[in-house]
Amino acid sequence: MEKRTCIECGDKFDGRRDKKYCCDQCRTSYFNKQNSDQNKFMRNINNILRKNRRILETMNPTGKATVTKTDLLDEGFKFSYFTNEYKTKTGKTYRFCYEHGYLQLESNLFALVIRKEYVE
Ligand SMILES: [Zn+2]
Repeated sequence: MEKRTCIECGDKFDGRRDKKYCCDQCRTSYFNKQNSDQNKFMRNINNILRKNRRILETMNPTGKATVTKTDLLDEGFKFSYFTNEYKTKTGKTYRFCYEHGYLQLESNLFALVIRKEYVE
């Protein structure tokens, strides 16, 4: 037996080397906190992806559209967040936020598309 420090409340307690918490309550609240941080992180990213998808959907109501990068940025589109990529045989790379995708045509020009089936 040696003095341990609870990683939740910081209290000293007697316990084996592998014990991290002074009591069950501290273990539970430590786990809950970890989970809520992870949930918050995932929620933020999901919100960004959802917003990106909504922007693409709004700008592409018919399934095919051409928009400028400026338009996308003005709406708050974040280019570093997407759900998957699709490379064509000809070497073009589509990026998708769920079923809504885009392809860069020129430095300030994007083609918008919709995919019905999921692709990895
Ligand atoms: Zn404790």
